[in-house]
Amino acid sequence: MDCIFCKIIAGDIPSTKVYEDGKVFAFRDINPQAPVHVLVVPKEHIPSADFITAENSGNISAVFEAVPKIAAAEGLTNGYRVINNCGEDGCQSVKHIHFHLLGGKKLSEKMD
Ligand code: 5GP
Ligand code: ZN
Repeated sequence: MDCIFCKIIAGDIPSTKVYEDGKVFAFRDINPQAPVHVLVVPKEHIPSADFITAENSGNISAVFEAVPKIAAAEGLTNGYRVINNCGEDGCQSVKHIHFHLLGGKKLSEKMD
């Protein structure tokens, strides 16, 4: 499949991995927008939040079970932000669902 994040998960494209379990892979964003900027993705190819169903949502809960573990490992003891961009208006550029974990500084109050 021609998906950059599937290739990263498979190890065909290099990345800086920070976490992996049976369902989840997390790696540093190549263009960080905060001192800590990790992309947390399900290993299963789900194109976007629009494609979450009762059948595949276990992959999404696995992502959110991994988030506090990654945050702790990254030293985000004072909080963090988790963002999902979906579709054109959400400015999603990679069509494999991913969650941005941002922290390490006081983040902007604006979210748009
Ligand atoms: P989106 O805009 O789709 O929500 O986020 C995609 C993110 O993937 C961007 O923050 C971008 O910097 C990151 N990204 C795109 N290509 C690569 C890559 O090859 N490696 C890594 N580590 N991050 C990437
Ligand atoms: Zn993919």
